[in-house]
Amino acid sequence: MRPVTDRDSAEWWERAARHEFVVQRCDSCGTLRFPARAYCHRCRTGRWHWQPIGPTGRVESWIVSHQPFLAGVTEPYVVVMVRLADAPECVMYGNWDRREPPVAGQAVQAVFTVVDEELSLINWRPLE
Ligand SMILES: [Zn+2]
Repeated sequence: MRPVTDRDSAEWWERAARHEFVVQRCDSCGTLRFPARAYCHRCRTGRWHWQPIGPTGRVESWIVSHQPFLAGVTEPYVVVMVRLADAPECVMYGNWDRREPPVAGQAVQAVFTVVDEELSLINWRPLE
């Protein structure tokens, strides 16, 4: 199963495939946002650019999935919700990259997991 992209998210996935860790920055008010969308939720303008940020954050929550949604993934597996250090209004989800469970508030870093030339996924592991 591959992520379904749309007009707003397609370029984000292309950048992730090049291992660029980016969010959107509003050209008008500077608000950082993720996931990608066409208009700023603060000032409603449509001008923005991709902003590289540090690939770190803190675990805010997680789930343990016992459902085999993905072929080749061994359940149970953990999906974490990470609040980004450089963009505290933004959270990002990804698979947990360690055997030991995450801890609330734990400092983490993103790791790009290459699926193929056109797709890399962002997973999370403890900050080293
Ligand atoms: Zn704005």
